[in-house]
Amino acid sequence: MLADNNRFKREVLGPIEQVVGTRGLITDRSEMQTYMLAWRDSWEGRVPAVVRPATTEELAAVVRICAATQTPIVPQGGNTGLTGGGQPHDDDSEIVISTARMNRIRDINVDNNTITVDAGCVLATIQQAAKEIDRLFPVSLGAEGSCQIGGNISTNAGGVQVIRYGNTRNQVLGLEVVLADGRIWNGLRGLRKDNAGYDLKQLFIGAEGTLGIITAATLRLSPLPKKTATALLATASPQSAVAWLGRARAMLGERLTSIELIERVCIDIACKFNDRIQDPLDTRYPWYLLVELADQDPEDDLENRLLNAFGRGLEANELLDGVVASSAEKAAALWRIREEIPEGHRREGVSFKHDVSVPISAIADFIAQANEALGKRFPGIRSFAFGHLGDGNIHFNPLQAQGGQADEWKARLSDVNRIVHDIVVRLDGSITAEHGIGQLRIDEIDHYKSEVELEMMATLKKALDPMNLLNPGKVIPRRFM
Ligand code: FAD
Repeated sequence: MLADNNRFKREVLGPIEQVVGTRGLITDRSEMQTYMLAWRDSWEGRVPAVVRPATTEELAAVVRICAATQTPIVPQGGNTGLTGGGQPHDDDSEIVISTARMNRIRDINVDNNTITVDAGCVLATIQQAAKEIDRLFPVSLGAEGSCQIGGNISTNAGGVQVIRYGNTRNQVLGLEVVLADGRIWNGLRGLRKDNAGYDLKQLFIGAEGTLGIITAATLRLSPLPKKTATALLATASPQSAVAWLGRARAMLGERLTSIELIERVCIDIACKFNDRIQDPLDTRYPWYLLVELADQDPEDDLENRLLNAFGRGLEANELLDGVVASSAEKAAALWRIREEIPEGHRREGVSFKHDVSVPISAIADFIAQANEALGKRFPGIRSFAFGHLGDGNIHFNPLQAQGGQADEWKARLSDVNRIVHDIVVRLDGSITAEHGIGQLRIDEIDHYKSEVELEMMATLKKALDPMNLLNPGKVIPRRFM
Protein backbone atom coordinates (compact mmCIF):
# COMPACT_ATOMS: atom_id res chain seq x y z
CA MET A 1 0.00 0.00 0.00
CA LEU A 2 1.96 2.98 -1.27
CA ALA A 3 -0.61 5.50 0.03
CA ASP A 4 0.12 4.85 3.72
CA ASN A 5 3.80 4.53 3.22
CA ASN A 6 5.92 7.40 4.56
CA ARG A 7 8.87 6.48 2.37
CA PHE A 8 6.57 6.73 -0.66
CA LYS A 9 5.40 10.18 0.42
CA ARG A 10 8.95 11.36 1.11
CA GLU A 11 10.81 9.80 -1.82
CA VAL A 12 8.15 9.74 -4.54
CA LEU A 13 5.28 12.18 -3.98
CA GLY A 14 7.44 14.98 -2.54
CA PRO A 15 9.92 15.05 -5.46
CA ILE A 16 7.06 14.64 -7.99
CA GLU A 17 5.27 17.64 -6.50
CA GLN A 18 8.46 19.65 -6.86
CA VAL A 19 8.47 18.82 -10.58
CA VAL A 20 4.78 19.27 -11.46
CA GLY A 21 3.57 21.62 -8.70
CA THR A 22 0.27 21.21 -6.86
CA ARG A 23 -1.68 21.65 -10.12
CA GLY A 24 -0.04 18.58 -11.54
CA LEU A 25 -0.63 16.23 -8.63
CA ILE A 26 -3.91 14.79 -7.34
CA THR A 27 -4.01 12.71 -4.16
CA ASP A 28 -7.60 13.32 -3.10
CA ARG A 29 -9.58 10.08 -3.57
CA SER A 30 -12.76 11.74 -4.88
CA GLU A 31 -10.83 13.91 -7.36
CA MET A 32 -9.03 10.82 -8.64
CA GLN A 33 -12.28 8.96 -9.28
CA THR A 34 -12.62 9.85 -12.98
CA TYR A 35 -9.15 8.44 -13.62
CA MET A 36 -10.00 5.21 -11.79
CA LEU A 37 -13.23 4.15 -13.50
CA ALA A 38 -13.44 2.67 -16.98
CA TRP A 39 -16.13 3.83 -19.41
CA ARG A 40 -18.10 0.61 -19.04
CA ASP A 41 -17.56 0.50 -15.23
CA SER A 42 -15.77 -2.79 -15.83
CA TRP A 43 -12.64 -1.88 -13.88
CA GLU A 44 -12.09 0.33 -10.91
CA GLY A 45 -8.53 1.11 -9.96
CA ARG A 46 -7.08 2.54 -6.76
CA VAL A 47 -3.86 4.54 -6.64
CA PRO A 48 -2.25 6.93 -4.16
CA ALA A 49 -1.71 9.64 -6.79
CA VAL A 50 -2.56 10.85 -10.29
CA VAL A 51 0.23 12.92 -11.83
CA ARG A 52 -0.59 15.41 -14.58
CA PRO A 53 2.62 16.82 -16.07
CA ALA A 54 2.35 19.82 -18.39
CA THR A 55 5.39 19.15 -20.60
CA THR A 56 7.56 16.32 -21.89
CA GLU A 57 10.40 17.44 -19.61
CA GLU A 58 8.13 17.30 -16.56
CA LEU A 59 6.83 13.87 -17.55
CA ALA A 60 10.39 12.59 -18.08
CA ALA A 61 11.45 13.92 -14.67
CA VAL A 62 8.49 12.14 -13.05
CA VAL A 63 9.41 8.87 -14.77
CA ARG A 64 13.03 9.25 -13.55
CA ILE A 65 11.71 9.54 -9.98
CA CYS A 66 9.56 6.43 -10.53
CA ALA A 67 12.53 4.53 -11.98
CA ALA A 68 14.77 5.47 -9.04
CA THR A 69 12.12 4.36 -6.54
CA GLN A 70 10.76 1.42 -8.59
CA THR A 71 7.26 2.90 -8.63
CA PRO A 72 5.00 1.31 -11.29
CA ILE A 73 3.22 3.67 -13.69
CA VAL A 74 -0.06 3.47 -15.59
CA PRO A 75 -0.06 5.91 -18.54
CA GLN A 76 -3.51 7.34 -19.22
CA GLY A 77 -4.99 9.47 -22.01
CA GLY A 78 -8.71 10.14 -22.34
CA ASN A 79 -9.60 6.95 -20.43
CA THR A 80 -12.02 5.78 -23.14
CA GLY A 81 -10.24 2.47 -23.79
CA LEU A 82 -12.43 -0.62 -23.63
CA THR A 83 -10.01 -3.20 -22.24
CA GLY A 84 -8.89 -1.75 -18.89
CA GLY A 85 -5.44 -0.90 -20.29
CA GLY A 86 -5.52 2.62 -18.82
CA GLN A 87 -6.98 1.48 -15.48
CA PRO A 88 -4.60 0.93 -12.60
CA HIS A 89 -4.99 -2.17 -10.43
CA ASP A 90 -7.03 -1.68 -7.27
CA ASP A 91 -4.29 -2.22 -4.70
CA ASP A 92 -2.63 1.21 -4.45
CA SER A 93 0.53 -0.26 -6.00
CA GLU A 94 0.88 2.13 -8.98
CA ILE A 95 0.53 5.77 -9.89
CA VAL A 96 -1.31 7.12 -12.93
CA ILE A 97 0.44 9.56 -15.26
CA SER A 98 -2.21 11.41 -17.22
CA THR A 99 -1.35 13.37 -20.37
CA ALA A 100 -4.49 15.53 -20.09
CA ARG A 101 -2.53 18.78 -19.57
CA MET A 102 -0.16 18.11 -22.48
CA ASN A 103 -2.53 19.34 -25.15
CA ARG A 104 -0.66 21.78 -27.40
CA ILE A 105 -0.60 21.66 -31.17
CA ARG A 106 3.12 22.14 -31.67
CA ASP A 107 3.36 22.67 -35.41
CA ILE A 108 1.38 22.47 -38.65
CA ASN A 109 3.35 22.06 -41.87
CA VAL A 110 1.05 22.60 -44.86
CA ASP A 111 3.60 21.69 -47.56
CA ASN A 112 4.62 18.54 -45.72
CA ASN A 113 0.99 17.69 -44.90
CA THR A 114 1.84 17.06 -41.26
CA ILE A 115 0.71 18.16 -37.83
CA THR A 116 2.81 17.73 -34.69
CA VAL A 117 0.87 17.51 -31.45
CA ASP A 118 1.29 16.77 -27.76
CA ALA A 119 0.07 13.31 -26.73
CA GLY A 120 -2.79 14.78 -24.70
CA CYS A 121 -4.47 16.51 -27.66
CA VAL A 122 -8.06 15.30 -27.97
CA LEU A 123 -8.69 13.54 -31.29
CA ALA A 124 -11.53 15.91 -32.27
CA THR A 125 -9.22 18.92 -31.70
CA ILE A 126 -6.71 17.48 -34.17
CA GLN A 127 -9.46 16.75 -36.70
CA GLN A 128 -10.65 20.37 -36.37
CA ALA A 129 -7.13 21.85 -36.66
CA ALA A 130 -6.58 19.83 -39.84
CA LYS A 131 -9.91 20.98 -41.26
CA GLU A 132 -8.99 24.62 -40.68
CA ILE A 133 -6.08 24.23 -43.13
CA ASP A 134 -8.19 22.26 -45.62
CA ARG A 135 -6.81 18.86 -44.59
CA LEU A 136 -8.25 15.70 -43.05
CA PHE A 137 -7.00 13.77 -40.06
CA PRO A 138 -8.91 10.59 -40.84
CA VAL A 139 -8.92 8.64 -37.56
CA SER A 140 -12.58 8.80 -36.55
CA LEU A 141 -14.37 6.92 -33.78
CA GLY A 142 -17.26 7.24 -31.33
CA ALA A 143 -15.05 8.51 -28.48
CA GLU A 144 -13.31 11.19 -30.57
CA GLY A 145 -14.53 14.04 -28.32
CA SER A 146 -12.66 12.57 -25.32
CA CYS A 147 -9.92 10.19 -26.42
CA GLN A 148 -6.41 11.58 -26.86
CA ILE A 149 -3.95 10.99 -29.65
CA GLY A 150 -1.46 9.34 -27.26
CA GLY A 151 -4.18 6.81 -26.38
CA ASN A 152 -5.15 6.39 -30.03
CA ILE A 153 -1.56 5.64 -30.98
CA SER A 154 -1.00 3.38 -27.98
CA THR A 155 -4.05 1.30 -28.93
CA ASN A 156 -3.48 1.67 -32.70
CA ALA A 157 -7.14 2.73 -32.85
CA GLY A 158 -9.20 1.80 -35.89
CA GLY A 159 -12.60 3.42 -36.26
CA VAL A 160 -14.90 3.98 -39.19
CA GLN A 161 -12.57 5.08 -42.01
CA VAL A 162 -9.91 2.37 -41.94
CA ILE A 163 -11.08 0.91 -45.27
CA ARG A 164 -9.94 4.13 -47.00
CA TYR A 165 -7.15 5.57 -44.83
CA GLY A 166 -5.82 2.69 -42.71
CA ASN A 167 -5.70 2.63 -38.91
CA THR A 168 -3.83 5.00 -36.59
CA ARG A 169 -0.49 3.34 -37.37
CA ASN A 170 -0.82 4.54 -40.98
CA GLN A 171 -1.10 8.16 -39.83
CA VAL A 172 1.98 8.23 -37.59
CA LEU A 173 5.19 9.56 -39.15
CA GLY A 174 7.14 10.32 -35.98
CA LEU A 175 6.96 10.00 -32.20
CA GLU A 176 8.48 11.50 -29.10
CA VAL A 177 8.61 8.97 -26.28
CA VAL A 178 9.73 8.97 -22.65
CA LEU A 179 11.45 5.65 -21.95
CA ALA A 180 11.12 3.62 -18.75
CA ASP A 181 14.33 5.12 -17.34
CA GLY A 182 13.11 8.68 -18.00
CA ARG A 183 15.20 9.41 -21.10
CA ILE A 184 13.44 11.26 -23.92
CA TRP A 185 13.60 9.80 -27.45
CA ASN A 186 12.87 12.49 -30.03
CA GLY A 187 11.76 10.69 -33.17
CA LEU A 188 9.46 13.48 -34.40
CA ARG A 189 10.45 13.12 -38.04
CA GLY A 190 7.82 13.95 -40.64
CA LEU A 191 9.38 11.72 -43.29
CA ARG A 192 7.64 9.37 -45.72
CA LYS A 193 10.88 7.53 -46.36
CA ASP A 194 13.43 6.74 -43.66
CA ASN A 195 15.37 3.50 -43.81
CA ALA A 196 18.11 4.58 -41.42
CA GLY A 197 17.90 1.59 -39.10
CA TYR A 198 14.96 0.04 -37.26
CA ASP A 199 11.63 1.86 -37.49
CA LEU A 200 11.47 2.31 -33.71
CA LYS A 201 8.21 4.23 -33.62
CA GLN A 202 6.38 1.06 -34.67
CA LEU A 203 7.29 -0.52 -31.32
CA PHE A 204 5.27 2.03 -29.38
CA ILE A 205 2.22 2.04 -31.66
CA GLY A 206 -0.30 -0.39 -30.19
CA ALA A 207 1.96 -1.16 -27.18
CA GLU A 208 -0.73 0.08 -24.73
CA GLY A 209 1.78 2.01 -22.63
CA THR A 210 3.94 -1.02 -21.81
CA LEU A 211 7.12 0.05 -23.63
CA GLY A 212 7.27 3.84 -23.22
CA ILE A 213 5.07 6.88 -22.70
CA ILE A 214 4.27 8.73 -25.91
CA THR A 215 4.53 12.50 -25.36
CA ALA A 216 4.09 13.83 -28.91
CA ALA A 217 3.48 12.71 -32.47
CA THR A 218 3.97 13.95 -36.01
CA LEU A 219 0.94 12.85 -38.00
CA ARG A 220 0.20 12.53 -41.70
CA LEU A 221 -2.66 14.69 -43.04
CA SER A 222 -4.79 13.79 -46.06
CA PRO A 223 -6.69 15.97 -48.52
CA LEU A 224 -10.01 17.18 -47.09
CA PRO A 225 -12.96 15.66 -48.96
CA LYS A 226 -15.23 18.34 -50.43
CA LYS A 227 -18.22 16.11 -50.81
CA THR A 228 -19.74 13.12 -49.06
CA ALA A 229 -22.75 10.86 -49.64
CA THR A 230 -24.24 8.60 -46.99
CA ALA A 231 -26.75 5.75 -47.10
CA LEU A 232 -28.32 3.12 -44.89
CA LEU A 233 -28.85 -0.02 -46.94
CA ALA A 234 -30.72 -3.14 -45.92
CA THR A 235 -29.44 -6.61 -46.68
CA ALA A 236 -30.48 -10.18 -45.89
CA SER A 237 -27.29 -11.52 -44.37
CA PRO A 238 -23.60 -10.87 -43.73
CA GLN A 239 -22.92 -12.99 -46.82
CA SER A 240 -24.94 -10.69 -49.09
CA ALA A 241 -23.32 -7.69 -47.39
CA VAL A 242 -19.86 -9.02 -48.29
CA ALA A 243 -21.01 -9.67 -51.85
CA TRP A 244 -22.15 -6.04 -52.15
CA LEU A 245 -18.90 -4.81 -50.58
CA GLY A 246 -17.01 -6.44 -53.48
CA ARG A 247 -19.28 -4.72 -55.99
CA ALA A 248 -19.06 -1.36 -54.21
CA ARG A 249 -15.27 -1.51 -54.12
CA ALA A 250 -15.13 -2.23 -57.84
CA MET A 251 -17.59 0.58 -58.68
CA LEU A 252 -16.51 3.22 -56.16
CA GLY A 253 -12.81 2.55 -55.55
CA GLU A 254 -11.16 4.92 -53.08
CA ARG A 255 -14.34 6.93 -52.69
CA LEU A 256 -15.68 4.28 -50.31
CA THR A 257 -14.60 5.63 -46.90
CA SER A 258 -16.89 3.71 -44.50
CA ILE A 259 -18.96 0.55 -44.63
CA GLU A 260 -20.40 -0.47 -41.28
CA LEU A 261 -22.29 -3.74 -40.83
CA ILE A 262 -25.18 -3.53 -38.35
CA GLU A 263 -27.47 -6.32 -37.13
CA ARG A 264 -31.13 -5.35 -36.68
CA VAL A 265 -31.06 -5.84 -32.89
CA CYS A 266 -28.40 -3.10 -32.65
CA ILE A 267 -30.79 -0.56 -34.20
CA ASP A 268 -33.59 -1.69 -31.87
CA ILE A 269 -31.38 -1.15 -28.85
CA ALA A 270 -30.02 2.20 -30.05
CA CYS A 271 -33.66 3.40 -30.50
CA LYS A 272 -34.78 1.93 -27.17
CA PHE A 273 -32.37 4.02 -25.11
CA ASN A 274 -32.32 7.22 -27.16
CA ASP A 275 -35.44 9.07 -28.30
CA ARG A 276 -33.44 10.98 -30.92
CA ILE A 277 -32.72 7.80 -32.90
CA GLN A 278 -35.22 6.75 -35.53
CA ASP A 279 -35.23 3.88 -37.98
CA PRO A 280 -35.42 5.63 -41.39
CA LEU A 281 -36.93 2.60 -43.17
CA ASP A 282 -40.56 1.48 -42.76
CA THR A 283 -39.80 -2.22 -43.02
CA ARG A 284 -37.57 -4.18 -40.66
CA TYR A 285 -34.65 -6.09 -42.19
CA PRO A 286 -32.16 -8.51 -40.63
CA TRP A 287 -28.96 -6.61 -41.47
CA TYR A 288 -27.90 -3.13 -42.58
CA LEU A 289 -24.92 -1.34 -44.07
CA LEU A 290 -24.08 2.25 -43.21
CA VAL A 291 -22.10 3.47 -46.18
CA GLU A 292 -20.23 6.70 -46.78
CA LEU A 293 -18.45 7.96 -49.89
CA ALA A 294 -16.15 10.98 -50.02
CA ASP A 295 -14.35 12.83 -52.78
CA GLN A 296 -12.06 15.81 -53.21
CA ASP A 297 -13.90 16.97 -56.35
CA PRO A 298 -16.88 19.18 -55.40
CA GLU A 299 -18.38 18.54 -58.86
CA ASP A 300 -18.39 14.76 -58.47
CA ASP A 301 -21.97 13.49 -58.32
CA LEU A 302 -21.36 11.18 -55.41
CA GLU A 303 -25.02 10.72 -54.60
CA ASN A 304 -25.62 9.38 -58.08
CA ARG A 305 -22.64 7.02 -57.80
CA LEU A 306 -24.03 5.69 -54.54
CA LEU A 307 -27.51 5.30 -56.05
CA ASN A 308 -26.00 3.37 -58.96
CA ALA A 309 -24.13 0.97 -56.71
CA PHE A 310 -27.26 0.61 -54.57
CA GLY A 311 -29.39 -0.12 -57.68
CA ARG A 312 -26.96 -2.77 -58.91
CA GLY A 313 -27.00 -4.35 -55.46
CA LEU A 314 -30.83 -4.52 -55.55
CA GLU A 315 -30.74 -6.15 -59.01
CA ALA A 316 -28.26 -8.76 -57.78
CA ASN A 317 -30.32 -9.44 -54.61
CA GLU A 318 -27.38 -8.37 -52.48
CA LEU A 319 -29.48 -5.52 -51.09
CA LEU A 320 -33.17 -5.38 -50.17
CA ASP A 321 -33.91 -1.71 -49.53
CA GLY A 322 -32.21 1.49 -48.46
CA VAL A 323 -32.17 5.23 -48.09
CA VAL A 324 -29.61 7.72 -49.36
CA ALA A 325 -29.38 10.80 -47.13
CA SER A 326 -30.62 13.90 -48.94
CA SER A 327 -28.95 16.43 -46.61
CA ALA A 328 -26.08 16.73 -44.15
CA GLU A 329 -28.59 16.58 -41.27
CA LYS A 330 -30.07 13.34 -42.57
CA ALA A 331 -26.59 11.88 -43.00
CA ALA A 332 -25.77 12.85 -39.40
CA ALA A 333 -28.99 11.17 -38.26
CA LEU A 334 -27.90 7.93 -39.96
CA TRP A 335 -24.49 8.11 -38.26
CA ARG A 336 -26.18 8.73 -34.91
CA ILE A 337 -27.75 5.28 -35.12
CA ARG A 338 -24.30 3.72 -35.42
CA GLU A 339 -22.77 5.93 -32.73
CA GLU A 340 -25.46 5.13 -30.16
CA ILE A 341 -25.08 1.35 -30.46
CA PRO A 342 -22.31 1.00 -27.81
CA GLU A 343 -24.26 3.07 -25.25
CA GLY A 344 -27.54 1.17 -25.92
CA HIS A 345 -25.62 -2.09 -25.66
CA ARG A 346 -24.08 -1.03 -22.33
CA ARG A 347 -27.53 -0.32 -20.91
CA GLU A 348 -29.31 -3.41 -22.19
CA GLY A 349 -27.83 -5.93 -19.74
CA VAL A 350 -24.92 -8.32 -19.45
CA SER A 351 -23.08 -8.74 -22.72
CA PHE A 352 -19.97 -10.52 -23.84
CA LYS A 353 -17.69 -8.29 -25.87
CA HIS A 354 -15.52 -9.56 -28.66
CA ASP A 355 -13.56 -7.28 -30.95
CA VAL A 356 -12.47 -9.83 -33.49
CA SER A 357 -11.19 -9.76 -37.04
CA VAL A 358 -11.34 -12.49 -39.65
CA PRO A 359 -10.62 -12.43 -43.38
CA ILE A 360 -13.52 -10.57 -45.04
CA SER A 361 -14.38 -13.78 -46.89
CA ALA A 362 -14.94 -15.52 -43.51
CA ILE A 363 -17.17 -12.89 -41.83
CA ALA A 364 -20.45 -14.66 -42.62
CA ASP A 365 -19.07 -18.04 -41.49
CA PHE A 366 -17.78 -16.52 -38.28
CA ILE A 367 -21.10 -14.94 -37.30
CA ALA A 368 -23.09 -18.07 -38.24
CA GLN A 369 -20.75 -20.51 -36.48
CA ALA A 370 -20.43 -18.38 -33.33
CA ASN A 371 -24.20 -17.91 -33.00
CA GLU A 372 -24.86 -21.59 -33.58
CA ALA A 373 -22.27 -22.75 -31.03
CA LEU A 374 -23.41 -20.24 -28.39
CA GLY A 375 -27.10 -20.96 -28.99
CA LYS A 376 -26.52 -24.69 -28.39
CA ARG A 377 -24.58 -24.11 -25.19
CA PHE A 378 -26.56 -21.15 -23.80
CA PRO A 379 -30.17 -21.27 -25.06
CA GLY A 380 -31.72 -17.81 -25.35
CA ILE A 381 -28.45 -15.90 -25.69
CA ARG A 382 -29.09 -13.05 -28.13
CA SER A 383 -26.90 -12.37 -31.16
CA PHE A 384 -25.56 -8.80 -31.29
CA ALA A 385 -23.06 -8.01 -34.03
CA PHE A 386 -21.87 -4.84 -35.71
CA GLY A 387 -18.56 -3.67 -37.04
CA HIS A 388 -16.31 -2.44 -39.75
CA LEU A 389 -17.13 -4.75 -42.68
CA GLY A 390 -14.31 -3.55 -44.93
CA ASP A 391 -11.74 -4.39 -42.22
CA GLY A 392 -13.18 -7.81 -41.36
CA ASN A 393 -13.65 -6.40 -37.84
CA ILE A 394 -16.79 -7.54 -36.04
CA HIS A 395 -17.83 -6.43 -32.59
CA PHE A 396 -19.57 -9.68 -31.69
CA ASN A 397 -21.23 -8.88 -28.37
CA PRO A 398 -24.02 -11.40 -27.59
CA LEU A 399 -26.49 -10.34 -24.92
CA GLN A 400 -27.78 -12.37 -22.01
CA ALA A 401 -31.12 -14.12 -22.56
CA GLN A 402 -34.13 -11.94 -21.80
CA GLY A 403 -34.88 -11.94 -18.12
CA GLY A 404 -31.88 -14.03 -17.09
CA GLN A 405 -29.95 -13.35 -13.87
CA ALA A 406 -27.07 -10.92 -14.50
CA ASP A 407 -24.62 -12.64 -12.13
CA GLU A 408 -25.23 -16.05 -13.64
CA TRP A 409 -24.50 -14.67 -17.11
CA LYS A 410 -21.37 -12.87 -15.96
CA ALA A 411 -20.02 -16.18 -14.62
CA ARG A 412 -20.16 -17.60 -18.15
CA LEU A 413 -17.73 -15.07 -19.62
CA SER A 414 -14.73 -17.35 -20.00
CA ASP A 415 -16.83 -20.15 -21.55
CA VAL A 416 -18.34 -17.71 -24.05
CA ASN A 417 -14.90 -16.30 -24.86
CA ARG A 418 -13.47 -19.75 -25.47
CA ILE A 419 -16.27 -20.69 -27.88
CA VAL A 420 -16.05 -17.42 -29.85
CA HIS A 421 -12.27 -17.12 -29.92
CA ASP A 422 -11.75 -20.77 -30.91
CA ILE A 423 -13.90 -20.11 -33.98
CA VAL A 424 -11.98 -16.89 -34.74
CA VAL A 425 -8.65 -18.67 -34.57
CA ARG A 426 -9.93 -21.57 -36.71
CA LEU A 427 -10.87 -18.99 -39.34
CA ASP A 428 -7.35 -17.42 -39.22
CA GLY A 429 -8.56 -14.32 -37.38
CA SER A 430 -7.43 -12.22 -34.43
CA ILE A 431 -9.01 -12.09 -30.96
CA THR A 432 -8.68 -8.30 -30.98
CA ALA A 433 -8.84 -6.18 -34.09
CA GLU A 434 -8.68 -2.65 -32.67
CA HIS A 435 -9.33 -2.41 -28.91
CA GLY A 436 -6.25 -4.30 -27.77
CA ILE A 437 -5.38 -6.56 -24.85
CA GLY A 438 -5.27 -4.39 -21.71
CA GLN A 439 -6.49 -6.41 -18.72
CA LEU A 440 -9.51 -7.82 -20.51
CA ARG A 441 -7.73 -10.21 -22.85
CA ILE A 442 -4.49 -10.97 -21.04
CA ASP A 443 -5.51 -14.58 -20.38
CA GLU A 444 -6.84 -14.93 -23.90
CA ILE A 445 -3.58 -13.79 -25.49
CA ASP A 446 -1.72 -16.28 -23.30
CA HIS A 447 -4.04 -19.02 -24.52
CA TYR A 448 -4.00 -18.20 -28.22
CA LYS A 449 -0.62 -16.68 -29.12
CA SER A 450 2.22 -19.04 -29.84
CA GLU A 451 4.98 -19.35 -27.24
CA VAL A 452 7.52 -17.97 -29.72
CA GLU A 453 5.39 -14.86 -30.34
CA LEU A 454 4.84 -14.26 -26.62
CA GLU A 455 8.56 -14.75 -25.95
CA MET A 456 9.49 -12.18 -28.62
CA MET A 457 7.05 -9.72 -27.03
CA ALA A 458 8.50 -10.39 -23.56
CA THR A 459 12.04 -9.94 -24.90
CA LEU A 460 11.14 -6.49 -26.23
CA LYS A 461 9.43 -5.60 -22.96
CA LYS A 462 12.44 -6.65 -20.87
CA ALA A 463 14.82 -4.73 -23.15
CA LEU A 464 12.87 -1.47 -22.93
CA ASP A 465 11.44 -1.79 -19.41
CA PRO A 466 13.66 -4.18 -17.45
CA MET A 467 12.06 -3.31 -14.08
CA ASN A 468 8.52 -3.81 -15.46
CA LEU A 469 7.41 -0.36 -14.32
CA LEU A 470 5.32 0.64 -17.35
CA ASN A 471 1.74 -0.63 -17.17
CA PRO A 472 2.59 -3.93 -15.46
CA GLY A 473 0.04 -6.69 -15.81
CA LYS A 474 -1.15 -5.42 -19.19
CA VAL A 475 -0.53 -7.01 -22.61
CA ILE A 476 2.30 -9.37 -21.50
CA PRO A 477 1.13 -12.30 -19.35
CA ARG A 478 2.70 -12.08 -15.88
CA ARG A 479 4.42 -15.49 -16.18
CA PHE A 480 6.90 -13.86 -18.59
CA MET A 481 7.91 -10.97 -16.31
P1 FAD B 1 -6.87 5.48 -22.70
O1 FAD B 1 -8.13 4.75 -22.55
O2 FAD B 1 -6.56 6.51 -21.69
O3 FAD B 1 -5.65 4.44 -22.75
C1 FAD B 1 -5.68 3.35 -23.64
C2 FAD B 1 -4.34 2.59 -23.54
O4 FAD B 1 -3.27 3.41 -24.03
C3 FAD B 1 -3.95 2.24 -22.11
O5 FAD B 1 -3.25 1.02 -22.14
C4 FAD B 1 -3.02 3.36 -21.69
O6 FAD B 1 -2.10 2.95 -20.69
C5 FAD B 1 -2.31 3.69 -22.99
N1 FAD B 1 -1.93 5.09 -23.16
C6 FAD B 1 -2.73 6.18 -23.16
N2 FAD B 1 -2.01 7.29 -23.42
C7 FAD B 1 -0.72 6.88 -23.57
C8 FAD B 1 0.50 7.55 -23.88
N3 FAD B 1 0.55 8.86 -24.06
N4 FAD B 1 1.63 6.81 -23.98
C9 FAD B 1 1.62 5.47 -23.77
N5 FAD B 1 0.49 4.79 -23.49
C10 FAD B 1 -0.67 5.49 -23.40
N6 FAD B 1 -11.56 2.16 -30.50
C11 FAD B 1 -11.31 1.85 -31.79
O7 FAD B 1 -10.18 1.42 -32.11
N7 FAD B 1 -12.27 1.99 -32.76
C12 FAD B 1 -13.50 2.44 -32.48
O8 FAD B 1 -14.34 2.55 -33.37
C13 FAD B 1 -13.79 2.80 -31.11
N8 FAD B 1 -15.00 3.30 -30.78
C14 FAD B 1 -15.26 3.63 -29.48
C15 FAD B 1 -16.52 4.14 -29.14
C16 FAD B 1 -16.81 4.49 -27.83
C17 FAD B 1 -18.15 5.03 -27.48
C18 FAD B 1 -15.81 4.32 -26.82
C19 FAD B 1 -16.06 4.70 -25.39
C20 FAD B 1 -14.56 3.81 -27.15
C21 FAD B 1 -14.28 3.45 -28.47
N9 FAD B 1 -13.02 2.94 -28.84
C22 FAD B 1 -12.77 2.63 -30.14
C23 FAD B 1 -11.99 2.69 -27.81
C24 FAD B 1 -11.13 3.92 -27.44
O9 FAD B 1 -11.77 5.11 -27.71
C25 FAD B 1 -9.80 3.87 -28.15
O10 FAD B 1 -9.09 2.74 -27.69
C26 FAD B 1 -8.92 5.11 -27.94
O11 FAD B 1 -7.85 5.02 -28.86
C27 FAD B 1 -8.34 5.22 -26.54
O12 FAD B 1 -7.79 6.53 -26.36
P2 FAD B 1 -7.69 7.16 -24.90
O13 FAD B 1 -6.96 8.46 -25.01
O14 FAD B 1 -9.01 7.22 -24.25
O15 FAD B 1 -6.74 6.11 -24.17
